[in-house]
Formats: sequence, C-alpha cells, structure tokens
Amino acid sequence: MTSRFLSKSRYMNGLQCPKLLWMACNAPDKIPEPDASTQHVFDQGHLVGELAKYLYPGGIDVPHDDFKENVGRTRELLAERKTLFEAGFMSGGLFSRLDILKPAGRDAWDIVEVKSSTSVKEENLHDVSFQRHCCRQHGLKIDNCYLAYVNNQYVRKGELDPAGLFTIQDITTEVDAAANGLEDRIHSMFATIASAECPDVPVGGQCSSPYDCPVSTCWEELPANNIFTLYRGGNKCCELFHQGILYIKDVPGAIKLSRSQQIQKWCDINGIPHIEPKPIRNFLASLQYPLHYLDFETINPTVPLFNGTRPYQKIPFQFSLHLAEDHGTVKHYSYLAEGTGDPRPQFLARLKKAFGKSGTVVTYNQAFEEGVLNDLARTFPEYADWIKGVCGRMVDLLEPFRKFHYYHPDQSGSASIKHVMPALTGKGYEGMEIADGAAASREFLNVTYGGASEEERQQVRANLERYCGLDTEGMMWIVERLRQVSNS
Ligand code: SF4
Repeated sequence: MTSRFLSKSRYMNGLQCPKLLWMACNAPDKIPEPDASTQHVFDQGHLVGELAKYLYPGGIDVPHDDFKENVGRTRELLAERKTLFEAGFMSGGLFSRLDILKPAGRDAWDIVEVKSSTSVKEENLHDVSFQRHCCRQHGLKIDNCYLAYVNNQYVRKGELDPAGLFTIQDITTEVDAAANGLEDRIHSMFATIASAECPDVPVGGQCSSPYDCPVSTCWEELPANNIFTLYRGGNKCCELFHQGILYIKDVPGAIKLSRSQQIQKWCDINGIPHIEPKPIRNFLASLQYPLHYLDFETINPTVPLFNGTRPYQKIPFQFSLHLAEDHGTVKHYSYLAEGTGDPRPQFLARLKKAFGKSGTVVTYNQAFEEGVLNDLARTFPEYADWIKGVCGRMVDLLEPFRKFHYYHPDQSGSASIKHVMPALTGKGYEGMEIADGAAASREFLNVTYGGASEEERQQVRANLERYCGLDTEGMMWIVERLRQVSNS
C-alpha cells in the first residue's frame, strides 16, 4: 500500500535514486532487509548516537517506537526548553526525527546530527537541511546546525570520554547551500511517490553512492562479465552502459582501454586465460624458502575498546601462517584471541614464536598486513626491529594478478583472492559460514563482546579458524598453480 509521506530517510533515498524512493514508498516488501554488514553499520551508528547523548546532560529521550506518540510527546516537551533526543516533527506530509535538538538563546533551537563517520560528507548536509526544513515547517526557529562526528585522533585512556570521541562542527553555512532547491526536490519526490509506475532507472554510479542501494534486483538482471566488471572501469562503465554496451567483449575498438582492460576484453572474447610466463616466473623466482604464507584478521571498532587505541584502528585478533619448506613439508600455525582483553600482546608473541628467521613472507595485499604490523611496532616498540625484518621479507601475491600477468575470465575483473583462487585453482570459499574479512570481524566482535551463547561462540570460532586458514592455504595453491601455468 502506498505511503505518501516523505520522511528524512525517504528524502535521502530520493536524492540517490527515484526508483529507490518509489520502491521504499510503494513496494517496501521488495527491498530486502539490511544484510549483516549493513546491520553492523547501523548498530555502530546506534552506539555512537547513544554516546553522543552524554555530551548533553539533562537531555530528555523522546520515546520513538511509535511515531505518532513521538511527534505528540515532542510537541509537549518543546515547552520545557530542554535538550531533546529523537524529537520528531510531522508537517505538510514531511516527517523527520532529530538526533539532538537543543535550545539556543531565548526562543530558538540548534540541530545536532550525530554520525559515526570521521568527517562531514555532502549527504550529511542534505540530511540536516531536510531536518531543518521540517522543524521550520513546524514553526520552530532554528539557529545553527552542527554535525557531531567521530574524532579519529581520539585515543582512549581508561573510561571512554565522549567529549574526546566527538568533533562537533558548525555546518550551518554548508547546510544553507545544500538547502538550495530543497522545496523543488521535495515537490518532485512527492510526484514520484504518487506515480502509479515505478520509474525506469538504469543501474549506474548512483547505486553505490552515497550508500550501497539495497535493491539488488536491478543488478541481478545483468549477465556475467557485464560492462560494470571492467577492471578499474569507474565512470567509463556507466558511460559505456548508457551507450548500450552490455558486455566487455562488445566494447568498440575505438574506445581507449587500459592495458589490463584490453587483456580482460581479449579473455572475454576468447574464453581463455591470459598468461605471461616470464614475469610470473620472475615473481616465483623471488620467493625464498621457507615460505611464510601469512594472513591477519582484524576488528576496527568505531568506539575504541582498548586503552591506547583510536576509533576505527585495526586491531588484529587472528592470524594464520602456513610455513612451507622446499622439500614439501608444510606446518600450520594459527592464533585466535580468547577473552575480551586487548588481543595484540598475545597476537605478537604467538606470531613471533611461530615465525622462522629467514624466508619470504607471502601475503595477499601486502599493504594490509604490513600496515597492521607497522601500527603494532609503534605501540609495542620492543617488537619494532623484528617487525621491520618481517616487513622487509614480504612479497605481495596480489601483484601478478594486479598487473594482469595472469587473468582468467572467471575473475570478473577482480584481482582479489576471493575471485583469483576459484578461477585459478577451482577451489574457493563456497559453503563457508564466514567467507570474507568483514564477516570475520563482525562475527568475532559479536561472539566476543556481544551476548552470544557458548555454543554459538564455539561455532563461530571454528568458522573463523577455517576461514583464515583457507586464505593462507589458498595462497599456497595459487603459487603452485602459477608454477604450473608458467611452465606449461
Ligand atoms: S540499484 Fe540502482 S537503479 Fe536500482 S533502485 Fe537502487 S540505486 Fe536505483
């Protein structure tokens, strides 16, 4: 059933894509529930929102489970001239709830929007401009608008300090600019909502900007190896798609493609991999036994959990290390943090103990493991020399794929291990309960710091061991296959 009011979230939907807005209002059941990853982002945002309330002692929480009650209670509470959390306003078919509304001067109010991001973004300005418009429609005098976002330079020392965790920035001028044309946009959005037909909007850059659109059906209609899988295609993908080019293999010769993109096109046309034996052999020749296949998993909580850590800092909680000798012996070492304390001291001690004194350290996307280790070296200087030595022995297995010395059409324009491993070795992550780093991080946080049962905790820990272990075992398979393809 059509729902014809325009809330703040629908306004943001409408700015992103008219089709998304129409579906949110007319076919909400066709929009999937947030997936675990999106839900995690929402949960982090909720936590940040709760912490921001500590910045305004004496503020009143307006009940917001029922929107009519929320609006009614807000109306009553305005007279008290106190800071309100989750105040709601409905006027002229528009509805908005505000994170924080605080009295300013004798009869005005300021808006404070809370975000878990670490800077002011364009979409935040539109978000607040809509809130301010709703308040003004309701007859409120609004002075200034602020954004309270996470200060990524904050370092936790003991109890969490909300004043240190947030940066509060006056964004009134920027909101004024974002409000230009707002009424016209609202008018046009109401027309979209009232339309009997869903707008026909082709997929494009708007599907992931500023947010990942939850409407997956638009993309499901596209075939494999479509133009959007063009390696580092960016805007070119959208331009070509809008010119009617659906497949990479159909990109006209007159269109300038990068070397990698040309290889990808060639592979799609011929249906076979592209192999450059010499650079692959050079890469393999740089590997010195014993080979240390290494992979880390990290958490990066918005709100720092441990002393001396910052918001979003990567905290390693797991490693997998496959140690391969040149005579074929392989040993596996792993670590998965137990308990709720800071995992880093144990992580480092166990890693150092498992490591050999010589041999190449093989990573996939070296910048990640190297970045985590260098961060650890700053916090634990007693390991700094050892870490420097480890980083000096690293090679990046991503390189032959990023440079397209090897490319298989099944990689769909991606050099990630998640695409390379199945394409090259025929083995992959199918059927794994945890199949990517974001899920590993989320699940570890949930079973370690959330309210999971012991049974669930053990199950997730077993899944984590399997997942991280597959990453390093998969690297061994990839190296083995590279040897075969470069010698055949
Ligand atoms: S997937 Fe893209 S085209 Fe489809 S509704 Fe979302 S933003 Fe619009």
